[in-house]
Amino acid sequence: MQFCDDCGSMMKSMGSQMVCANDDCQATVVKDEEKAAEFVSTEEQSGDEVIETEEGANFEGKPTATDVTCEECGHGEAWYTIKQTGAADEPPTRFFKCKECGYRWREYN
Ligand SMILES: [Zn+2]
Ligand SMILES: [Zn+2]
Repeated sequence: MQFCDDCGSMMKSMGSQMVCANDDCQATVVKDEEKAAEFVSTEEQSGDEVIETEEGANFEGKPTATDVTCEECGHGEAWYTIKQTGAADEPPTRFFKCKECGYRWREYN
């Protein structure tokens, strides 16, 4: 049961809308279910999905590589993770994050 916001009369269901039963008013409102559906669809569209890449993974607590030089600040220590990105017979790729400036890069085979 829904009542008109304008005059307080009972609302009648008309398709996707509720229409005020008061002939002098005849206010219309979109049904709650329709609003809910709209809300869900905008929710889906709004959230720009941030997909965490291998390069963006959390490096803190990972082993430290000291045989590297940061391309960004020249620092000689970086966290690294090793991932098998290609075929099994290819060497795995090391992903680095500079301990000094946080710059991330990957080692190309
Ligand atoms: Zn009304
Ligand atoms: Zn750096």
